[in-house]
Amino acid sequence: MPDIQHQLFINGEFVDARSGETFATSNPATEEKIADVASAGVDDVDAAVKAARAQMEPGSEWQKMKPRDRAKVLWRIADMLSAKAADIGHIETIDNGKPIFESQFVDTPAAAECLYYFAGWSGKVTGETIPIADNAFTYTLREPVGVVGAITPWNFPLMLAVWKIAPALACGNTVVIKPASNTSLSLLKFAEYAKECGLPPGVLNVIPGSGSVVGNAMVDHPGIDAIAFTGSTEVGKGLMARAAKTLKKISLELGGKSPNVVFADSDLEAAARGALNAIFYGKGEVCAAGSRLLVEESAHDELMAKLTERANKMVAADPLHPKTRLGALVSKSQMDTVLSYIEAGKSDGAKLIAGGERTDIGTGKGYFVKPTIFDDVEVDHRIAKEEIFGPVLATIRFKDADDAVAKANATVYGLAAAVWTRDISKAHRIAKSIKAGTVWINTYNLYDPALPFGGFKESGFGRDQGKDALEKYTQTKSVWVNL
Ligand code: NAP
Ligand code: MG
Repeated sequence: MPDIQHQLFINGEFVDARSGETFATSNPATEEKIADVASAGVDDVDAAVKAARAQMEPGSEWQKMKPRDRAKVLWRIADMLSAKAADIGHIETIDNGKPIFESQFVDTPAAAECLYYFAGWSGKVTGETIPIADNAFTYTLREPVGVVGAITPWNFPLMLAVWKIAPALACGNTVVIKPASNTSLSLLKFAEYAKECGLPPGVLNVIPGSGSVVGNAMVDHPGIDAIAFTGSTEVGKGLMARAAKTLKKISLELGGKSPNVVFADSDLEAAARGALNAIFYGKGEVCAAGSRLLVEESAHDELMAKLTERANKMVAADPLHPKTRLGALVSKSQMDTVLSYIEAGKSDGAKLIAGGERTDIGTGKGYFVKPTIFDDVEVDHRIAKEEIFGPVLATIRFKDADDAVAKANATVYGLAAAVWTRDISKAHRIAKSIKAGTVWINTYNLYDPALPFGGFKESGFGRDQGKDALEKYTQTKSVWVNL
């Protein structure tokens, strides 16, 4: 078991909360406590912001560092993450419940790739010279926004934090970040690695603690220039209203109820595999999960037979075992929410065709839920409308392409979608018609640091990843020289 960091990381040091308060974090697969984590209060937020501000001052170590040297630090951290994937993956798995296959071999490499990608942008985010008049020399500067306050969720604790940290630092900002209380440990370990790799003190500060206390203090703090949030739509709306008080720049990566649209002319074997991955990867605790399966009527029976057969073979097991593909839900309260949605599906009249209950791995412990599939779901059922954030699939039939698009768009969310068909015109037409930030064609759940990711509608605004992410972490200054 790797060493665990459980204190706040402020100004390059691991410290207790000023109040001395802690909160327990536990392993959802065993229900055992892992550690008591320092719980930041308003004073600690203030100390973290002071440290981050100091590195934004002219003449500070961070400001004096050439962009290419910033890139080298990011690159070193990425190398270290890659080398330590087994350690940090282990920490993520015991804290979150996700299989080690995901934490060590998917999430950590993805976080490293994100750092490599944004290291490459450092020093390449440039302004322009703009011809205006004969007697003027006018140009723009792309400056960092300043101190970025990031708040992140528990489903991909390390990776989603790095999606914010990497572009923010590449652009020359500093960061104060609050991880989710359920899963603070991987980001604290990341801070240890960043320090070892030579990231100057104060450039990154990690302050676990209660969402409402730390999150609100960050949003209110005059020393924070921008908020980058990933989490639920409900909390995101509250933060946006609160940010109005200081008119803080805010970006929101929120929830989803993503449609996975399968046409009868698709490769149904591939579509079944894709639908399974879309909803059960990451125990369904994935913002872009394909939680609504829209099936063309003529393909319905065949697809559902393939899908249920595969789902029934997906058995929960010890998340630390390398062969495990279905782990434990993050907490008891998340499991209870998921189970209550399963009850709502039944009472609304949907047909339960797989799973539908808690399960265990022979230990009698852990928050495991069987891969659950509902058929004959109507668009107005709760399980068709609300984000469940667990391994529960709602299947809805459609008649034709127009019906598919109408049903796909019948949601307040717009994070992701997929379409399965062999007809390329239809595939592109549907991709254009669905209101979502990402549309996959004949695949699901693929991400790359070069491809922007974010929401339409109530899934938020602003993009993580890709060139678009640089928008959130820079601001444009126009300079007019009178000639
Ligand atoms: P959440 O409850 O909104 O929490 C997210 C973060 O906000 C946590 O750090 C949480 O801290 C903090 N927080 C909670 N209440 C707060 C408040 N009143 N003020 C300030 N901060 C507060 O979401 P979650 O349950 O962790 O994550 C699941 C949600 O995230 C889902 O809706 C999912 O779709 C969304 N998500 C979106 C994306 C995307 O890229 N669009 C990616 C992943 C997840 P505590 O942990 O201390 O409560
Ligand atoms: Mg935990």
